[in-house]
Amino acid sequence: MTVRLQTFETLRDASTAVVGDSSTRFLGGGTLLVRALNEEVADFSTLVRCTDRALTEVRASGSRVRIGAGVTMTRILASSELALLHSAARSVGGPAVRAQATVGGNLFAPPPYGDLVVALLALGARVSVQSGFSPREIAIDEFLRDRDSHSRAVVVAVEFARPRGERSFRFLKVSKVRPKGVSLLTIAARLEDSARRLSSVRVAYGNMAPAPMRAAAVERALEGGRLERSTVEEAAAVAADGCSPPTDAIASAWYRREVLPVHLSRLLLDQG
Ligand SMILES: Cc1cc2nc3c(=O)[nH]c(=O)nc-3n(C[C@H](O)[C@H](O)[C@H](O)COP(=O)(O)OP(=O)(O)OC[C@H]3O[C@@H](n4cnc5c(N)ncnc54)[C@H](O)[C@@H]3O)c2cc1C
Repeated sequence: MTVRLQTFETLRDASTAVVGDSSTRFLGGGTLLVRALNEEVADFSTLVRCTDRALTEVRASGSRVRIGAGVTMTRILASSELALLHSAARSVGGPAVRAQATVGGNLFAPPPYGDLVVALLALGARVSVQSGFSPREIAIDEFLRDRDSHSRAVVVAVEFARPRGERSFRFLKVSKVRPKGVSLLTIAARLEDSARRLSSVRVAYGNMAPAPMRAAAVERALEGGRLERSTVEEAAAVAADGCSPPTDAIASAWYRREVLPVHLSRLLLDQG
């Protein structure tokens, strides 16, 4: 199959090309798109790439963190300012995949992939999406609810407020094959406190539903409490509420539900 590659200098031109043609895909690092081509299951005939600097910019020195959609996992790992995302970035594939895999591509990666997205969901990121003249910012929860419709646009960047405190953001990917197996389940949690009470808690799961999800019952159980055993037990008791995990080659839905509370408790008690 012959595929056309178009390169644009501006986000506006690139997004116009993607929006206007349903057989066109935006090319990130190509770890999924090029694999689809090699396996002859590609449903596109044109790939669009863009050299606009906004896609590869990282701004992370202050209280807000902005990462261009074209930034790779390897680049995240090379930045000390992005240390809070290192465990998530390191969990994506092996070194060759991480050298190509981008933040933007991870936002669209189907299960069992999308590990970085779980971290971004727990961090309450906003996604900058361009489908016309200028980008607009969408909460990541909203972006994921309507992910397919955004594949006809260009994601420019993700942005979030840096969590206060070293251990106030935690990430865990459970896999049967180490060090680079796909996720059995993934958990990320933003656990900031105010006067030693947890506030604005966000907990996200990967592979516990068809798309990355918030663990709303867990968040309610933790909110306003202290990060101690009794609170964690309450959270673990409702860990699987609202989940509809898949049964796949890695594990059954039953198994995922059974082990989720154990891993959630370890993460919350910092026993990882
Ligand atoms: C061997 C292997 C192992 C892997 N292991 C993992 C893993 O452990 N964890 C994990 O999360 N993933 C894994 N992946 C999946 C994949 O590598 C990552 O999810 C990666 O982040 C996808 O990014 P990409 O830039 O390569 O995407 P691409 O292949 O370039 O694109 C994927 C999709 O995203 C769209 N897209 C990309 N960038 C943008 C943008 N800026 N705007 C709009 N649309 C965009 C594309 O159009 C396409 O639909 C693995 C893949 C392989 C081949």
